[in-house]
Amino acid sequence: MARTRTIVLLILSVLLILSAQGEGKAEKNVPIVVIVTVDGTRWDAIKGLDSFARMEETGFRAKKMRSVFPSQTCPAHASIATGVRPAVNGILSNQFLEKDTGTRFSHEKEAKWLKAPPLWVIAEKAGIRTAVSEWPVSEGEWDGVKPSYYRAFDWDNTDRQAAEWTLALLKMKEAAPGLIMTWLRACDKAGHDHGPGSAQYKEAAARTGKLLIKLADGIREAGLEKKVVLLMSSDHGMKDIVGEIDIVPSVPKKGFYPYIAISGPTAMIYTKDVRQHAAVLKKLKKIRNGVSLYPPSKLPEECSLGNSDRVGDILLSAPPGYIFSPFKRGAHDRNYGYHGWPPSDDDMCGVFFAAGPGVPVRTIEEASILDIAPTALKLLGLDIPTRCEGKPLF
Ligand SMILES: [Zn+2]
Repeated sequence: MARTRTIVLLILSVLLILSAQGEGKAEKNVPIVVIVTVDGTRWDAIKGLDSFARMEETGFRAKKMRSVFPSQTCPAHASIATGVRPAVNGILSNQFLEKDTGTRFSHEKEAKWLKAPPLWVIAEKAGIRTAVSEWPVSEGEWDGVKPSYYRAFDWDNTDRQAAEWTLALLKMKEAAPGLIMTWLRACDKAGHDHGPGSAQYKEAAARTGKLLIKLADGIREAGLEKKVVLLMSSDHGMKDIVGEIDIVPSVPKKGFYPYIAISGPTAMIYTKDVRQHAAVLKKLKKIRNGVSLYPPSKLPEECSLGNSDRVGDILLSAPPGYIFSPFKRGAHDRNYGYHGWPPSDDDMCGVFFAAGPGVPVRTIEEASILDIAPTALKLLGLDIPTRCEGKPLF
C-alpha cells in the first residue's frame, strides 16, 4: 500500500514538473504583440521611402492592405480590433443612428458601442495585460473589462508621443503588457487637408516611416528584438476629391427625422415611417451625379452592413472622388482628400508591415485588415473565434 502511494506521488511530482516546464516554455515563446495603425496611409504613398524599404527587406509586407466598407476610421479600427466587418462589429460608419434608442454615433470613443469583443478584451480575459493608445472606439469597459494601460485621445497629442508611450511600456520588462495597440494619424490629416497627391501627404508618410523605424530601433536597443512582434497597418487609403454633392436640400427635413448621417462618400438616412420614407426617396431619386441609392438589403456584397437597428433606411453612395457635403459645415470641413469608398477601390488600400521573432521575410500582393486580429491572436497563443473572417498572415 505504502509502495503504491509512493509511486503515485512520484508520478504526480513528475507530471507537475513537466507541466511547470511546459508553462514556462509557452510563456517564453509568446511574444509581446504591438499593433500600430498608420491612419490613411495609402498603399503607394510609401514609394521611394527608405524607412519602409528597410521594413520590407527585414520583415513581412502586404503590398495592398484591403480595408472594409465603409473605409473609414471608426469602422476600420473596429474591424482591426475585432476581426469582423462592420455589419458584425456594429460600427457601421463614422456617423450613424441607433434607431431603437435614438442615440447618435459620431466618432464616439466608448468601446461599449462594439458588438463583438475587441482584442484587448479577449487578451485581458485570458490573463494577458494590454495597453491601448487613443484607438478609436476603445475607451472604458466592454463586458466589464478594459485595458490595463490606457492613453486617452486628445487632439493635441502627437504621433511621436504615442510612439514614445509605446516604447516606454515595452521597457517595463516583466510589467510590460503582452498586447499594445497604438493609433498614429498624421498621414490621414495631411491627406484630408492637402490630398494624397500633395507634398504634405508624402512628407507625412516619410515622417511616419521614420517614427516606425525609431520604434523598431528602440525595441532593438532595449534588447527586446527577440521578444516583440510589430504589426503595422493602415486602416484605409486616401483619394483626391473631385467634387461635393449636397443632398441636404433634397431631403424634406423636419425636426429629428429624417435623420441624415453623412460621412464622406457615404450617407445613411433614417426615416420615422413609411410615408416619410416614400417622400424622402422621391426627392433623392432626382439627385444625379452618379449617386447610387440603396435599400440596406440591396447593397453590393462587399458593402453589406447587415440588418441591425443601426442601418439607415436609405443608403447613398457617391461615385469615386465625390463626397457628400457635410450636414453642418464647420470651419475645418474643407477636404482635398477622403476615403470611405468600397474596399475594391485600390485607392482605399493601405500598407502593412510586420517584423519580429518568427515573422517571415516575405512580400505578398495583398491582405485584409480582417487578417490582423487572427494574426495577433495566433501570436499570443489564443484561440481564433469562429466569427473571425480573416486568417493569420503567418
Ligand atoms: Zn482613418
